[in-house]
Amino acid sequence: MHIGNVYAMLGAWLSAHAGDGSESGKVLLRIEDVDEPRSVKDADKWIMDDLHWLGLDWDGEPVYQSQRTEIYEEALQALKSVGVEDVTSADAVSKGSSTSADFPLVYPCFCSRADLRAATAPQEGDRFLIYSGTCRRLLAECPNEVRSRLEEGRRHSWRIAVPEEGSQGSIVTFDDRVFGHQRFDLPLQVGDTVIRRSDGIFSYQLAVVVDDLLMGVNDIVRGRDLLRSSALQVWIRRALIASGFAAEYGIGIDGTIAENGKTRTVRGENAGRGFGDSSDGGAASAVNPAHAHLPLIDDPSGIRLAKRKHSLDIGALRANGVKPEQVIGYCAWLLGVRPPDRVHDLDTSAPIAMSAREALHCFTFDDIRADNSDRILAPNWTDEVDRPENGSVA
Ligand SMILES: [Zn+2]
Repeated sequence: MHIGNVYAMLGAWLSAHAGDGSESGKVLLRIEDVDEPRSVKDADKWIMDDLHWLGLDWDGEPVYQSQRTEIYEEALQALKSVGVEDVTSADAVSKGSSTSADFPLVYPCFCSRADLRAATAPQEGDRFLIYSGTCRRLLAECPNEVRSRLEEGRRHSWRIAVPEEGSQGSIVTFDDRVFGHQRFDLPLQVGDTVIRRSDGIFSYQLAVVVDDLLMGVNDIVRGRDLLRSSALQVWIRRALIASGFAAEYGIGIDGTIAENGKTRTVRGENAGRGFGDSSDGGAASAVNPAHAHLPLIDDPSGIRLAKRKHSLDIGALRANGVKPEQVIGYCAWLLGVRPPDRVHDLDTSAPIAMSAREALHCFTFDDIRADNSDRILAPNWTDEVDRPENGSVA
C-alpha cells in the first residue's frame, strides 16, 4: 500500500464507523485481483499486514474477485438477455412489454486496440475512452455480419450499451458527499464500455458493481478520479436489477436483501439523510449507495501518488521507523480532521499523530466538502506529525 491507499481506506473506515455508534457500519475488504496475470503474488497478504499495522480493521473474510468468475459470467448472461429500454423503463420489463426493436444492452465489439486508438477522441484526465460506436452501428445496420463473425469465432470483447443521446435514461445523477450533485450524460461523457475483455477477463466496471450489489455495499468512498466511473456504475447497477440478476440473489429494487427467508433492509448510518440518488428518495442502500469521492493526493513534485515512488510505500515507511499513528494522523489531516486540543497549546492546523479510533471523534465529510481541492504531500511529512505528550487528541 502507499499513503494514498491508506488515505482512501481511512476515509472509508471513518465513514463506516462515524455517527452516534448505534448504527455503525461495517468495512468490507475486497481483493480486486480479477486481472490475475497482472496481480502480484502475495499482494493481498501485504495489504492485510499493512492494514493490521495501521489499525484499520475490517469485518468478515476478504472477498477475492479471482474466485468469482462464475458470478460475473452469470451477470453477463443476464445482461445479454435484455435491451437498453428494458433498463431505462424498468417498469416496462416487469409488465412484460419489452419490444423486439429494443437495442441489445450488451453487444460484441470486434475493434482492435489500434482501431480504438484511431477512432477515439483524446483521453481525458481519468483515462476514460469514449467509444466511437463502430460495432454498435455494425449490429444496428448489419446484424447478419455480426452473427457470422461470432460464428467464425472472431476475437471480440463485450460492451454494455448506454442510452442514445437525448433519450430517456441518458442522464445519470447522484449526490456526492464531497463534490455535491453530480450529473453525467451517459452517451456523451461515458459511452458504451467493455465489461468483458477479448481475453475473457471481466472488467473492473462490471466486477465491482456485481460485488457491491451482492455484498450489500451501501457506502462507497474513493478518489474523485472515479466520479465518472460512478456514473457508469449507476447504469450497470440499474441494468443488473432490470435484467433480473439482482433478484436471482434476492436483492429487491427497494434495497432489501432476502436472507434466510427473511427480508432485511440494507441501510447504513446514512439512511434517510439524503445522501443517495435524490431521484430515488435518498436513503442509502445496496441498490442506491451513498457516494463520497475524495480529493486526490499529489506528491511534493506534483506527481499523482498513483504514479508514486516506492519511498511512499507503507513498507518503506515502516522500515524507516515511522509509526502507524503518524501515517494515520497525516491521512486524517488530509481528510480534514482538525482535532480541538483540550490539554495542550497544540497547533491543531498541523497534523497530529493519532489512531483511527481517535480520528473518528473529529471526522465529518463537511470538512472535506469545505475544502475539496487536491492535496499535496509535504516533502518531509512524517516530521510534521506531532503527538501530544499524554496521547490524547480528542
Ligand atoms: Zn468495436
